[in-house]
Amino acid sequence: MIEMKEDVFDKELNSHELVVLDFYSTECPPCEALAPKFEALDNLYGDDIRFIKMFRQGNRELAERLGVRSSPTLLFFKGGKQVGDVLTGGIHRSDIMRNLDAMLPGSRVKEIHDAIEQKTSETETLVLGAGPAGLAAAIYLAQAKVDTVVVDPLLPGGQVSTTHQVSNYPGFIEPQPGFMLGHNMAEQAKVAGAQMKVAVEINKVDLQNKEIMVDGHETIRARKILITTGASPRYLNVEGEKEHYGKGISYCATCDAKYYHDKEVVIIGGGNTAVEESEFISKFASKITMVQQFPYLTANRAAQERAMADPKINILLSHEPRGFYRQGDKMMVKVENLDTKEINELVTDGVFVFVGMKPNLELITEPLEKDEWGYLKVNHEMRTSLPDVFAAGDVISKQIRQITTAVSDGTIASIVIARELQ
Ligand SMILES: Cc1cc2nc3c(=O)[nH]c(=O)nc-3n(C[C@H](O)[C@H](O)[C@H](O)COP(=O)(O)OP(=O)(O)OC[C@H]3O[C@@H](n4cnc5c(N)ncnc54)[C@H](O)[C@@H]3O)c2cc1C
Repeated sequence: MIEMKEDVFDKELNSHELVVLDFYSTECPPCEALAPKFEALDNLYGDDIRFIKMFRQGNRELAERLGVRSSPTLLFFKGGKQVGDVLTGGIHRSDIMRNLDAMLPGSRVKEIHDAIEQKTSETETLVLGAGPAGLAAAIYLAQAKVDTVVVDPLLPGGQVSTTHQVSNYPGFIEPQPGFMLGHNMAEQAKVAGAQMKVAVEINKVDLQNKEIMVDGHETIRARKILITTGASPRYLNVEGEKEHYGKGISYCATCDAKYYHDKEVVIIGGGNTAVEESEFISKFASKITMVQQFPYLTANRAAQERAMADPKINILLSHEPRGFYRQGDKMMVKVENLDTKEINELVTDGVFVFVGMKPNLELITEPLEKDEWGYLKVNHEMRTSLPDVFAAGDVISKQIRQITTAVSDGTIASIVIARELQ
């Protein structure tokens, strides 16, 4: 691998048939996550492909010429021409390998893949998930001198990282950008001594044997496992939803209702959460339009009656959202009348979607005890039904899912684990 300046890049490109270029920055967590992968792949593919690193801020002209807007950005070149994907953000090893393989003949790809060594490492505690619960636990564990590895398929921070502003986490007078709060928690865990393996692919989780496999070749064994994989909102999967996630479409009233003081909002859903959260949002908003797919609300009777008696709440029954887009500072919601098939547009300031949450447990196949919604049951020490397997945060069965409660669960689990390992 070679670190290079932009003035010699074109020459380098002319003298090497195959090149991969990493534009990185300092103080860039995804760049830090990429660096060891890039180095390891250079060891594997380096005889065939030239691996180059370039400091983006110091080589702005070339970065701009190549359309690079963020760090890290990986670009692939064959015969002097850019080929393959432009990879940015939390880059997975398999995505890099897919692009490298595409530049080589199949027989050589096989040889390289055959040369990949399987690695096994051991740790005292393995934390699955780098959200607030996992990071709080990692801080406590590492400070208690417990060998701790935190693993996450994404960059650290969990749901907090996708939150525009957090104003209810104690210790900050002004609202904090969610991204910074998540970043600071991760940095605190690192400084305490926890090892972070983020933006990795988790191929297998074996809770019985307390081991996982990451990036297809690395097995990590632990004495204790803490599951802090969080929960995800159920999405509507309609046009514009992903694009406006956190930027006009919210999934958390406690977090975001305050931003709609004297404004109009649309709520999607008509179950208990939607109706109860609409009562809370009604303290702020001037008007609420609730869009419900069924010809009736499915919330409990008492909640329904309160919602119907609230003059700010209008209920649109037998309607489904079909798309979201922005017009100036307004959100536009396309809704279909399921009886007449007519499409109408609602103009609003913001949208809340309450069609349920789901725990992130897809990779966990062992029969852990769960509640009727699939969340993990734990006792007061955050122990699951499997020995030496703990769980904390949004993934467990509980009433209130917030950053403070996730941090609290992670704290309890880590102190119990640290005591047991002593
Ligand atoms: C848009 C939004 C705004 C919010 N605003 C606020 C707010 O203002 N105040 C507040 O208190 N709360 C807020 N919340 C709720 C809060 O973010 C959550 O309660 C909190 O993040 C839960 O923390 P957690 O660590 O349990 O889970 P998460 O934050 O969900 O983190 C879980 C982590 O686990 C990782 N993961 C998933 N699967 C695996 C796997 N198989 N292996 C390893 N890792 C895995 C995920 O990538 C993620 O990084 C908000 C939530 C959302 C969605």
